[in-house]
Amino acid sequence: MPATHPCDVAIVGGGLAGGLIALALAAKRPGCTIRLIESGARIGGNHLWSFFASDVAAHDRWLVAPLISYGWTGYDVAFPGHGRTLKAHYYSIESERFDRVIRAALPEEAVMRRKVLAASSKAVVLADGDRVEAGGVIDCRGPGDLGLLELGWQKFYGRELRLSEPHDLARPMLMDATVEQTDGYRFVYALPFAATRLFVEDTYYSDTPAVDLEAMGARLDGYAAAHGWHAEQLVREEAGSLPVVMGGDFEGYWQSGGNKVAKAGVRAGLFHPLTSYTLPDAVRTAALVAGASDLSGAGLHDLLHGHARRTWKRRGFYRLLAAMLFKAAEPGERYKVLERFYRLDPHLIARFYAAQSTLFDRGRVLAGKPPVPVKRAIKAIRK
Ligand SMILES: Cc1cc2nc3c(=O)[nH]c(=O)nc-3n(C[C@H](O)[C@H](O)[C@H](O)COP(=O)(O)OP(=O)(O)OC[C@H]3O[C@@H](n4cnc5c(N)ncnc54)[C@H](O)[C@@H]3O)c2cc1C
Repeated sequence: MPATHPCDVAIVGGGLAGGLIALALAAKRPGCTIRLIESGARIGGNHLWSFFASDVAAHDRWLVAPLISYGWTGYDVAFPGHGRTLKAHYYSIESERFDRVIRAALPEEAVMRRKVLAASSKAVVLADGDRVEAGGVIDCRGPGDLGLLELGWQKFYGRELRLSEPHDLARPMLMDATVEQTDGYRFVYALPFAATRLFVEDTYYSDTPAVDLEAMGARLDGYAAAHGWHAEQLVREEAGSLPVVMGGDFEGYWQSGGNKVAKAGVRAGLFHPLTSYTLPDAVRTAALVAGASDLSGAGLHDLLHGHARRTWKRRGFYRLLAAMLFKAAEPGERYKVLERFYRLDPHLIARFYAAQSTLFDRGRVLAGKPPVPVKRAIKAIRK
């Protein structure tokens, strides 16, 4: 007999956005019954999420603090024309810990390992025939119809390695663009977890989402060999293609993820258009939901739709930069845009990552001789 599971708030999809909303509600609204419905075995899947301290407002840090696996106080970047060490607190969250912390914060019955077939603003239909009936539903199942957005891609293949000898990295290398430039803007990203433990990732700002694991793996092997890193064990690997957003129809995208249903995370269009990072937005959204006076389906829809629409409007500048990067710069020359950007003031860089660039920052980023052909830059801006 199919069963009905009642609750106050049903969260559909236990990834980054859904997991953080569940955690925030558990902490701030202890009387509120939650169902976090995730088809995968682990809340958060197989991920490593990183962010700068300045991406998260001081009043929201309590939410991420228990989730952090690693932290550093500075990072490096390297380009053909210059290298630089920047001071900034940078953190990484592993999905394994994310899963553990969230399960510990919720009653056992709150986490349901089920596949969802459909969600409305007040009900969720599960693949096994059961239903969840809720005061309000938030859909966090990942992307809506990305075809409605104008996209480039950030794609990557990362490996966590256990080394036979200590490595030579004093701090994270966020962009090593001294590597061969191929398939767009290419750089290697490396995080030192411990003396003999490293995460190293081959990344591309590419015109296509296709991930060629064999070619990327061979390039990672070459990078490791050049640094004298001998891997004893491949601990974990991750690969993906994230949308870099140059434009598109926000309302169409929102509705493609389900009409009148509240949404969060990538499904709500809540990402940084150029870095594709969603963690800072996911934290803000979770805090917003936990503080909401109206947790009904309609109330949550209006709250999150308004929040996502305002956020989208404010981020035109980053979509413009994405268009300049993808349309004005030849793929092999894209690195010059980032090389120039990384000569700017560290505070401006931090505000850029947090999607909090001031008017002055915007002028500063666009001022001077652009490292891309001027005519093509103007065309990219006008489109
Ligand atoms: C490998 C990788 C690394 C990334 N690194 C970073 C980073 O360092 N920093 C950062 O800010 N961003 C990063 N991102 C980008 C972005 O933050 C992540 O994609 C983030 O996980 C998106 O959060 P989300 O909650 O919207 O979607 P997801 O985390 O993808 O969550 C969606 C969840 O819904 C579940 N689901 C889907 N359909 C159903 C269904 N029918 N029934 C039940 N459950 C369902 C999925 O199993 C999944 O767990 C990364 C992305 C990838 C792919």
